Order: sequence, then structure tokens, then C-alpha cells
Amino acid sequence: MQEQLQEQRLRVDENCVFCKIIKGEIPCAKIYDDDRLLSFLDIAPANKGHALIVTKNHYDTLLDVPEEELSILLKTVKKISRAMSSALGNEGFNILMNNEKVAGQLVPHAHIHIIPRFSNDGIKLNWKPNKYKEKEINEYKENIKKFL
Ligand code: AMP
Repeated sequence: MQEQLQEQRLRVDENCVFCKIIKGEIPCAKIYDDDRLLSFLDIAPANKGHALIVTKNHYDTLLDVPEEELSILLKTVKKISRAMSSALGNEGFNILMNNEKVAGQLVPHAHIHIIPRFSNDGIKLNWKPNKYKEKEINEYKENIKKFL
């Protein structure tokens, strides 16, 4: 009964694979579960142990997640990252969030990746560094600041 009530309050997209996981319709390797967040292992990991943390409410991207849910999300990312490092002995980890298809977001339900990293694991998240023309960095800086 409690679970039903809780589920009714969640924002759900019926076609979303992560909403189906949250509702228990698709299985997952769950590592964390609370009222607002679920964390499970990525089915196609960059490294074994690669975890996803998803908001239980369906939001498409970071920009749609309300502030109070975001702060809990980030605290929980830290908690799971620490637990992962204790469990797997990884020396570091990457936190990654893809927002929109153009940025590589395959599942349009807000989620954060935690990827455990080991020396010489061969994983490349690097981009080829671009260059600003003269004064261009200031134009970019001023343009972005106008919207803050
Ligand atoms: P993104 O590209 O940031 O949207 O990442 C989506 C991630 O979800 C990918 O790394 C997929 O491997 C992962 N994924 C998709 N379906 C499932 C699933 N059923 N269980 C676990 N991970 C999944």
C-alpha cells in the first residue's frame, strides 16, 4: 500500500526504460534505493562496477531536476562513490552526466554515471583540446555571465 502511494506521487514516463526499472518492470543490479533515488550497475559498463544513479521522478536532463532533489542526488553520488572505492579498490573514479542526445545521452531520464578507474585501465574520456582565438575567451566568458 505504501509503495503504491509512493509510486502515484512519482513522475513517470511510460516509455522510459529507467522508469520501468524504478517500477520493477525491468530487473536491475540494484546497489542503492531510497524514496527519491535508485542506483544500479550499468548493463554495458566502461569498467566493471560502473554505476548509474537515477532520480525516481522522471526528468529528462539536469536542467529539469528541482534544486532540492539535485542536492540529495549529489550527496548520494558521493556516498556511492566512496562505497564503490572501498569495495572495488579503484584508485579514482569519473562522474559523468550526459544531457541531451547531442551530448551522448541515450536514455532521456536524468542520471549520473560513476565509473571506477584503475591505473592503465585504458579507458579514454578525453577530448582533443580546442583553442580560443585572441580575446575569444573573454567573449565567451561575458556571453555566459550575462545569463547567470
Ligand atoms: P547515457 O548515454 O548517459 O544516457 O547512458 C545510458 C546508460 O544506460 C548506458 O551506459 C547504458 O549502458 C545504460 N543502460 C541502458 N539500459 C540499461 C538497463 N536496462 N540496465 C542497466 N543499464 C542500462
